[in-house]
Amino acid sequence: MVSNDLLVQQAAAYKREARKDFEAALAALISLAFRYKSMGENFLWSADPELEAEANRICRNLSDTCASKAKARAVAVMDECLDYFDGEAAWDFIAEPTSGESLLTRFDMAGSHLLELLEIWIALAFVNGMTKTYLKIEILRYLANPYASPLWKGLAGVLKWGPGYMKDIAAQLALIGQDAIIGAVRRAEWLDAMAKGATFWIWRRGSNFKCEDCQERAGQAFPIDIPFSEMHARCMCWPEYHYE
Ligand SMILES: [Zn+2]
Repeated sequence: MVSNDLLVQQAAAYKREARKDFEAALAALISLAFRYKSMGENFLWSADPELEAEANRICRNLSDTCASKAKARAVAVMDECLDYFDGEAAWDFIAEPTSGESLLTRFDMAGSHLLELLEIWIALAFVNGMTKTYLKIEILRYLANPYASPLWKGLAGVLKWGPGYMKDIAAQLALIGQDAIIGAVRRAEWLDAMAKGATFWIWRRGSNFKCEDCQERAGQAFPIDIPFSEMHARCMCWPEYHYE
């Protein structure tokens, strides 16, 4: 069975890595943009083909890095905890959904949001004579809500991101990867338990966080053909498999 503690540890470690990778990509994009200072308030990634290609390369690299680190964390848990499945193989057939967006597509969406966010910040930096370092500090300070920056006054509604997307892109990268890690590990654990002849599982709580949904299900038994799917970060509930 999967150790809940190990899964939580690996998800948390991934989150810290994603934050670092995000900050490195941010610094690289700012440095790149500052070579095009002459654009001033009209700064646009697409205004220069070389600039745009290099910005896209940095974002693609961020997606690849996040995806491979999420995979490494999930594989580490699966290799340690599963009997019937090799972690690497399990990831390959579990992590990529047969329908819906792939993991890389979800990371790429965060990257393109990053470019949209930076386009505004960089034009503001050029107009206001900000240095690269100061700009980076300001972006991180207002990452969760850029509209709170005094410089963004009058720009309300300029970021038109669909529902479900966070303004805080570092948090979005963390969420996408953690969902992938937890989703893949829980699904592999379910297949592993079935392969070993599990007949049902019991909903167990991983914390005493106040959550009516999880509290209601706690202690209930579910037939094995229903997979455990719910995972609240604060509840950290888990399925206890039974083999009788
Ligand atoms: Zn819950």
